[in-house]
Amino acid sequence: MKRLRRVKILATLGPSSSEETIIRNLSEAGADTFRINMSHASHEVMRSLIERIRNVEKEIGYPIGILADLQGPKHRLGTFENGSIAIKPGDLIVFDGNSKPGDEKRVNLPHPEVMAGLEIGHRLLVDDGRVRLVVEDRDENSVTAKVVVGTKLSDRKGVSLPDTELATSAMTTKDREDLAAILEQEVDWVALSFVQRPEDLAELRKLCRGRVSILAKVEKPQAVERLEEIIELADAIMVARGDLGVELPLERVPAIQKQIIRKCRRAGKPVIVATQMLESMISAPVPTRAEVSDVATAVYEGADAVMLSAESAAGDYPVEAVTTMDAIARSVESDHNYPGIIHAQRPEPEPTGADAISLAVRQIAETLNLSAIVCYTASGTTGLRAARERPITPILTLSPVPKTARRLTLAWGLHCVVTPDADDLDQMVDKACNVAFEEGFASPGDRVIVSAGVPLKTPGSTNMLRIAYVGSDGIGSG
Ligand code: PGA
Ligand code: MN
Repeated sequence: MKRLRRVKILATLGPSSSEETIIRNLSEAGADTFRINMSHASHEVMRSLIERIRNVEKEIGYPIGILADLQGPKHRLGTFENGSIAIKPGDLIVFDGNSKPGDEKRVNLPHPEVMAGLEIGHRLLVDDGRVRLVVEDRDENSVTAKVVVGTKLSDRKGVSLPDTELATSAMTTKDREDLAAILEQEVDWVALSFVQRPEDLAELRKLCRGRVSILAKVEKPQAVERLEEIIELADAIMVARGDLGVELPLERVPAIQKQIIRKCRRAGKPVIVATQMLESMISAPVPTRAEVSDVATAVYEGADAVMLSAESAAGDYPVEAVTTMDAIARSVESDHNYPGIIHAQRPEPEPTGADAISLAVRQIAETLNLSAIVCYTASGTTGLRAARERPITPILTLSPVPKTARRLTLAWGLHCVVTPDADDLDQMVDKACNVAFEEGFASPGDRVIVSAGVPLKTPGSTNMLRIAYVGSDGIGSG
């Protein structure tokens, strides 16, 4: 399954995409990593999705990444008797602590600290700001708010409180319970929502004890202010535009998106652009022109991945959404202006052997028009530093560690193959040529460039590069 696309696709799974056949279809259509949203998935659902993803992975024979997304201190409505209610400006809705399903008059807001903090005049922004209410009255157990804008409230929609002071920590009790269940499974990434401080990540990292990589969702103004420190402590970053656009004026989101992508590219940490990328495809088989342009912007900027949320999790056209994203990405990446645009933001190498070699490998590959860059990477670092160069030449990463290959499915341009390490230098070159041939990246007579840390099997940084011919039998010669 050779993909000629550099940007990766992260697809959220949900009711529209929980069957194994659909997961397989999504994967074949181009989804590289799947997100399980712990805001919606029970532990049982999470486990069954992971089992299905791993079955699909076995069938297709390529690593698939799994990201479990912790809800964080996000506030959500309870449920309604009929799933949703129609509302109009002027309507009064009561929010209370009663967990029974809501109706036209009342709904559960299952967060005591929110109920306690809300005062008359405070705004409640529901469903990414689509609905705005203002608190009119309150008593001991409930809050009455008037609808200012909006037409519909439905089950478990998010509620933001820009005017309310809340005493919440980065990880809720639910997050801790979810994390414990996640760590028992073969999960590659855990995402932390509503990160505000670098310490939030330190806390999660301690609990994870190296078993998963950590992604920080930037969706609070406080996180934007301390971006460098947060990038430093995270393994990857998500531009979580849904909540970011509620917490901050919407018109600031595009500039923040560019800022985050550029800083992550400099740091060599994967960065994902998320939310409403193809929103109209929740209910239509084709996207709007504006959405196509939005996906294209993220691709031109050199983001590592673009994400689908409800489009793949709860929409009517999950596979079409992935196919559309794939088509947009491939079209942008084949634009003759694309290399110039993406390379305008290329970061300088850091003064390390790994970066010096990654830079040299890219320059040699591009100068000699080689067919592939083949990186041996056990921990994944060499792969990520190669991706940081954003080379024109396709990158293959060879790793004996399935976990590494799965994790790298989120990184720009890396085609990941799980294979045992070679025993010596000759075998390493032969294997690199052989894999490049077998995976369809090189034909007999083509040349590839190989980079590795030698000796193999001992952790250490990249210190070798070698140009090799693919022989007539697909094995290396020279
Ligand atoms: P969510 O995160 O879908 O979990 O809210 C993404 C975002 O806020 O954009
Ligand atoms: Mn969010």
